[in-house]
Amino acid sequence: MSVLSSPYFHDEAKAFEYLESIVWANGTVCPHCGVVDGRVYDLSGVRSKPSKKHPEGKVRHGLKKCGECRKQFTAKVGTVFEHARIPLHKMLQAVHLIVSSKKGISAHQMHRVLEITYKSAWFLMHRIREAMRSGDLAQPFGTEGGAVEVDETYTGYKRDVATYRGYAHKHCVVALVDRDSGQSKWFHVDRANADNIHPIVLDNIHREARLMTDEATMYRKIGRRFKEHNTTTHARFEYVNMEDRTIHTNTVEGAFSIFKRGMRGVYQHCQEHHLHRYLAEFEFRYNNRTANGVDDRTRSANAVAGIVGKRLTYEGPNASSQAF
Ligand SMILES: [Zn+2]
Repeated sequence: MSVLSSPYFHDEAKAFEYLESIVWANGTVCPHCGVVDGRVYDLSGVRSKPSKKHPEGKVRHGLKKCGECRKQFTAKVGTVFEHARIPLHKMLQAVHLIVSSKKGISAHQMHRVLEITYKSAWFLMHRIREAMRSGDLAQPFGTEGGAVEVDETYTGYKRDVATYRGYAHKHCVVALVDRDSGQSKWFHVDRANADNIHPIVLDNIHREARLMTDEATMYRKIGRRFKEHNTTTHARFEYVNMEDRTIHTNTVEGAFSIFKRGMRGVYQHCQEHHLHRYLAEFEFRYNNRTANGVDDRTRSANAVAGIVGKRLTYEGPNASSQAF
């Protein structure tokens, strides 16, 4: 037995049962009228209209009918999987591949492994990234007065900006890590400066927290708003404060190193307007990592749980517009 031999990876009916167990964990919800645990009829034996390809019609797996509003639905309705035409068991395989690969998996590899087109693989992966996107924090980091690390890093190349010394031509990513909970939050900002970083820090970190940053001047003013603001001076090769070894930003830098290896080695290039979704992917894997007590199976289930209430309309892999 392996994780991959689970029936929901191979059998479409079982895939729907698995999806339902997650999406409707707190009772079946009719996506049309919103009734929870109302009268619902199972229509799972129903077939679609005959076509040339399927003269006997295709079995419509997971089909239900609401007894209140008389409308039909499946667990996919209202989720990022709703309009995807790939069989559900393959989409679940894709979720598993993404969440269990530490540095991500390329759309080309997904296309070869799942035997779907490259374009379908690319779309599907963006749907799954959207599912992995977290909402606003329920509680700011450092609520118990713990240490919260903040740092920024750079990735990729901006279009139409000349490559020169410094980082002006690269995309800037800011991340916060709450050392107590092991959770992180990632942001794409246009430039690493006080104007962009202050709102992120103020919105997501409790004032009683111990803020940990490097010596960058943009943290200086904001640091005074917190109970403590501790810095290490990377320019002097100081990565841990020798008097107080809890003063460092090595946790967030560890998270960045996985991100950078993934972006360079697996994704190679990424357009600026898609970057937030790649960040969602790395943030999700980091927050659901084994060190936080999350195994591959639970991580998959957590990603699938995120499909609800998120929808996407797309431009293709090569489109450059800001459409989504
Ligand atoms: Zn209904």
